[in-house]
Amino acid sequence: MFKYDSFYFQCPHCQAWLEGRNLKAEMVNEAILYSDGKVLNDNYITTPQKMIMCPSCAHLFWIEHPVEPLITFEKPDTDVYSWNTWRFFGINFSDNKGKMALINHYKTFLKKSHYEPKKEIYLRRFLWWAYNDLHRNHQHVRLRYLLNGFMSFGVWHCNRKLILEGEKLFLKNHKDFTDNLKRLLALLEKHPDEQIDLEVPEIYRELRQFDKVKELLDNTGSRTHFTNEMLRHSKWKDSRVFMVSG
Ligand SMILES: [Zn+2]
Repeated sequence: MFKYDSFYFQCPHCQAWLEGRNLKAEMVNEAILYSDGKVLNDNYITTPQKMIMCPSCAHLFWIEHPVEPLITFEKPDTDVYSWNTWRFFGINFSDNKGKMALINHYKTFLKKSHYEPKKEIYLRRFLWWAYNDLHRNHQHVRLRYLLNGFMSFGVWHCNRKLILEGEKLFLKNHKDFTDNLKRLLALLEKHPDEQIDLEVPEIYRELRQFDKVKELLDNTGSRTHFTNEMLRHSKWKDSRVFMVSG
């Protein structure tokens, strides 16, 4: 069964055709939600990519709303660059080198030009997630995870090495991570319409301002599994991204 619906669009500079994919609505329930708002289905991020670098001419362009007439659902009768050639700029994430390459892409984009707030928020949010990818699923390094039988020793051991290496890189780049989060927070507080769910208290938690997290969540009223987990992690003074459900 295909999990995605394909759509097609053209690079505005060289007119090359690119294939895009949207996750089918019925698959959203099978996704994993993380505290930073990133949602994964089968290791694929479900948030559509809005900034695209053409795999043919390297032109950067934005697709804010993947709807007709900008895109078509009918496969054009010509060569098409597949999703993997441009998705996340063609980067392979299976190792920390790929993860760092993605971080550097976003940093370069942000340095290169000035963006309107909506676009800057988009880029900084993806940069935040990319940093967190270095140690996402940190709970998998625990022995308990192996003993639960989720994975074989070989896979667990390899995965553990990858995450611990990623954690080191995360700490090494912590100042850049914090600078990005502070700027993202300022933008989101100025543009509340752009905030996603519990993004703001989560940013405070990842910035280790745990009292502020409690203050914000106390004001949101109803408690959910997500808010309870966020409070629990704040109480432990744990600022690492965590899995909310999945
Ligand atoms: Zn192009």
